[in-house]
Amino acid sequence: FDETPSAPQELAKRAAYLRELLTRYNCEYYELDEPSVPDAEYDRLFRELQQLEQEYPDLMHADSPTQKVGGQAIDAFTQVAHEAPMLSLDNAFSDEEFDAFAKRVAERLDSAQDIAFCCEPKLDGAAVSILYENGALIRAATRGDGQTGEDITANVRTIRNVPLQLQGDYPQRLEVRGEVFMPTHAFEQYNQKAAAAGEKTFANPRNAAAGSLRQLDSRITARRPLHFYAYSMGVVSDDAALESTHFDRLKQLQSWGLPISEEVKVVEQASDCHAYYQDILQRREQLRYEIDGIVLKVNAIALQNDLGFVSRAPRWAIAWKFPAQEELTVIRGVDFQV
Ligand code: NAD
Repeated sequence: FDETPSAPQELAKRAAYLRELLTRYNCEYYELDEPSVPDAEYDRLFRELQQLEQEYPDLMHADSPTQKVGGQAIDAFTQVAHEAPMLSLDNAFSDEEFDAFAKRVAERLDSAQDIAFCCEPKLDGAAVSILYENGALIRAATRGDGQTGEDITANVRTIRNVPLQLQGDYPQRLEVRGEVFMPTHAFEQYNQKAAAAGEKTFANPRNAAAGSLRQLDSRITARRPLHFYAYSMGVVSDDAALESTHFDRLKQLQSWGLPISEEVKVVEQASDCHAYYQDILQRREQLRYEIDGIVLKVNAIALQNDLGFVSRAPRWAIAWKFPAQEELTVIRGVDFQV
């Protein structure tokens, strides 16, 4: 797609084409756990559609992939309505894009003071919501389309580092959100064994995690080397007992027995996020799990509440993506003509 069409009619056609293509890719990725194009390619097309819609608001459709989260919950699973929607994250792909995000945050908060950020690795797996009542794990669900997910309670119960019972002074009702992933080493071992046994192998740890989690038979999930890190709270019965920053809330989750990434760190001002990005990027290969970037979140919960949300993502967080590491081995030809 080198020659940018100049006539609005051409652009409308291009936007319709991108909507259709991205909707198909979403289905392959979220519902079938079998993407046919690399993420970097998806991100390029998504960005192109977003830019077209920004430039020509009449091209914006309610059913555009830019306005939606994830994919449909499939019927084979019991459906779970999320009490608070599970959203996506906006992306930055460069220093400039991160700086523009930080500037928007500061302007919106109208704050002359430094804004602290919680910096976290962006784990490349599948988002889950886990509900605890009186400390006991009673339900787990996928993100689905953000409003409705799939009930995967039996599967999540098989993940060894997910506590079935919380410890300490936990709230009566607590929804924990986090990422289920397959550590890189375990993924490689799994694929080797599967190949030797003539079974299906996975293209990358992300698909392995999502595919393993969305099994109808939890005995299959139990045999997969899955791991979990919590990265936020959803609905909580007793807000008053919660800490006032995101980082301290993660520490609270940890004190109740939930695992969190050891790489989480607070920086006192937005400009310090650059050093965190460089540090994690350099150590990317040594981490025990695959990541596709970092996530930066305004640390003070009161400021998060002031900033709020747009349709599919919070205004107080951004995923700063790393350059693409791997392309899919088999890539179906994509027709870029409209
Ligand atoms: P996202 O992956 O860009 O960001 C949101 C997700 O990040 C959350 O749902 C959560 O699961 C995850 N996450 C990991 N670590 C986190 C942390 N520390 N804090 C908060 N969240 C964390 O958004 P998305 O909507 O899940 O997916 C969009 C991306 O998926 C695209 O940018 C693309 O790379 C990929 N995708 C690829 C295809 C394809 O065909 N290849 C299709 C659809 C989507």
